[in-house]
Amino acid sequence: MFTAAIKKSTICVCQISPVLAATMAKNVSFITGSELLSLKERSNVAIVDVRDDERSHDGHIAGSLHFASDTFQDRIPNLVQAAKGKDTLVFHCALSQVRGPKCARRFADYLAEGKVDAGIKNIMVLERGYNGWEASGKPVCRCRGSTCKGGC
Ligand SMILES: [Zn+2]
Repeated sequence: MFTAAIKKSTICVCQISPVLAATMAKNVSFITGSELLSLKERSNVAIVDVRDDERSHDGHIAGSLHFASDTFQDRIPNLVQAAKGKDTLVFHCALSQVRGPKCARRFADYLAEGKVDAGIKNIMVLERGYNGWEASGKPVCRCRGSTCKGGC
């Protein structure tokens, strides 16, 4: 388990910059996998996977929405629609070091502009991302549909 996590993390050499960390602290917070596992049973929580191609060959968290980081900015209004009725959004990428926090921040900025009243109160990032989630033995879904129904 531990070995797998080390091996996977060597793929990514990116580090979160202190500047980004400082700006993020304003209204984006981190959540651990265990916290998310208990939180995700609530109907007002949406999980947003911003990985790019990896999602199609690795698994994903059941019921998560997919908004790839490379087209994220343009699709923010679609995400607002998809997250209707939710008040908590949890973002993640593979490791949640760069793409996950960046997209969460962009989404927070979009809401801060006040053009839409999305009713979203909490924007969070899953610590250690999908790789950490899977490495710690949490349930994963491997369905192939573009929209995960979450029942797999
Ligand atoms: Zn699925």
